[in-house]
Amino acid sequence: MAELRRLPPLREGDWEWQMRAKCRGTDTATFYHPENERGPSRVRRELQAKAVCAGCPVVEPCLRWALAAREPYGVWGGTSPEERDELLRAGRRTA
Ligand code: SF4
Repeated sequence: MAELRRLPPLREGDWEWQMRAKCRGTDTATFYHPENERGPSRVRRELQAKAVCAGCPVVEPCLRWALAAREPYGVWGGTSPEERDELLRAGRRTA
């Protein structure tokens, strides 16, 4: 998982990275959980999404965006919503 303090700041209007996203054109159902998804199904789907992120050339700006936007849903930058919450909490603790 990325270390929050080492990520460069998000620049306003910086969307160019999305054009190079590996998930571009893929099924969004891999990245966002359907209603009532629980347990092993959710773990499997998130692992599939994270596998896409692992080979993505824009994983850092994607994660930066998700953290800055406090994105509450989906896998972004190789992280689940719970992992992003933890990164934000850790960032607040060290600030
Ligand atoms: S890091 Fe993952 S969610 Fe973000 S653009 Fe790349 S593939 Fe998509």
